Amino acid sequence: MKNESIKCTIKSCAHHAKDENYCSLDHILVGTHEANPTEKACTDCESFELKKGCC
Ligand code: SF4
Repeated sequence: MKNESIKCTIKSCAHHAKDENYCSLDHILVGTHEANPTEKACTDCESFELKKGCC
């Protein structure tokens, strides 16, 4: 089931709502892999999990 508060286009994620570009989780954690994030590319969805059989 989609969470209408979280849009997402990462179809290779196990939590993606499949037919629609939403996340299916109740909430997600956004984090960073940088010491001092300064741009969009510094941010990560820490709730991402690779969909089984994907890629
Ligand atoms: S867990 Fe993150 S990457 Fe996966 S569908 Fe939800 S928002 Fe997208």
